Order: sequence, then C-alpha cells, then structure tokens
Amino acid sequence: MIDQLQTYRAKRDFGRSAEPRGTSRASARSPQEHPFVVQKHDASRLHYDFRLGMEGVLRSWAVPKGIPVDKGERRLAKEVEDHPLEYGNFEGVIPEGNYGAGTVQLWDQGNYEVTGDSPEAAWRKGKLSLVLHGKKLKGHWALIRMHLQNEPDSKSWLLIKTVESLRGLSAKEANRSVASGKSMKEISRSRRVWKSAPRARRKPQDSFKARIREMIAGEGPGA
Ligand code: MN
Repeated sequence: MIDQLQTYRAKRDFGRSAEPRGTSRASARSPQEHPFVVQKHDASRLHYDFRLGMEGVLRSWAVPKGIPVDKGERRLAKEVEDHPLEYGNFEGVIPEGNYGAGTVQLWDQGNYEVTGDSPEAAWRKGKLSLVLHGKKLKGHWALIRMHLQNEPDSKSWLLIKTVESLRGLSAKEANRSVASGKSMKEISRSRRVWKSAPRARRKPQDSFKARIREMIAGEGPGA
C-alpha cells in the first residue's frame, strides 16, 4: 500500500518542527465524518491552507488570496501534498530553516459535506460542491480542478463562493484563531519558548498540544 504521507514526511524534519508526523494508518475518526480546516500560514508568502479530510488524510490546497466570501468570487487554489489528519489541530511556529517556516494559525475548523457525490468520488472528478460547517465559514463553495492545455494533470484548482455571500466576518473574527483565540502575532511569540529550550523540546511541545486539545474541546474561540 502506498504511504499517502510520504511526500509530506520527506519535506519535513520532525526533530526540528513540532508539526505532527502523522500515524501510518488512518485515524480512529469515523469515515462518515469529514473534517475541514483552514490554516493561515505566514510562510515565505502569506497564504491560507484549505484542507479536506478524506480517505484518512487531509487533502490540501494553498490559497494565496484567502477564502472567497462574496457570491461568484473565485480564488486560485494550488493543490499540495496530503497532510496527516492530526495536522488539523496544529497551530504554532515552524522554525526557520524548515519547510514552510513561519506562523500557522488555526483559522477555521469544522465538518463539510459534498452534495450529489461522495467527497472521494467528487475529488477524483475534480469537482466538489461543498457545504462547509465551520465556525467562520458556513455555506456553499465549489472547488474545481482547472483543465489547462499545458498541464494535463493540473494542480491548479478554483475555489469559488457559490449560492450566497457570507456575512462579513468582524475584524476580530477574521484575525483570531478558532482554537486558541490568538492573533498571528501572539502565536508567533511561542517561537521563543521552543528556541530557548531545544533540549526540553518534548515537554513544552506535549503541553502545547494538550492545551490546543483542551481549547478545541472547551469553549471554542477565546474572548
Ligand atoms: Mn502552507
């Protein structure tokens, strides 16, 4: 069986970044449940990572200009390597010198449905009619693979806002993590902790993860 996370792992050094390695087998999550996550990622270029859970991994797209909110608005979404499901709970700083170095914020989380098809079949066809049930993103979107003459196996997709416009998110909502309530700047401060105590990496990392888990299980977005 092909390891779906081979590319993901090959790009990263898990001794130097707190990103999850991912379990080799699909997680215990029920196959009927389809999680989605949007991570704001201040890497060499700021972008939003749009991830849809299916077949035991998070299929992933980098959306440079952010998720469209006005009906008919479309944004380029570049397909990237599958990520482990655990990545859907990752927030923190990828240290300099590592792949994707920069701050990662859990911008939105929830579940999604695909109308008229299973997510897996729709993904293979390159056309997903999405209903997102997130904390910020609620409603209909479409994700469509572009067919380019010079790129037969296209990694370029369009993420399109369909059916209705999303009500405006307040500046506070738009800037804060749905998991921790933190701004990008506040998350980026955690970098110091990891850099100053590289030998004790395991402990702060575990407590960080536990904190994120608590926050996700708890009240949701902080005030
Ligand atoms: Mn990214």
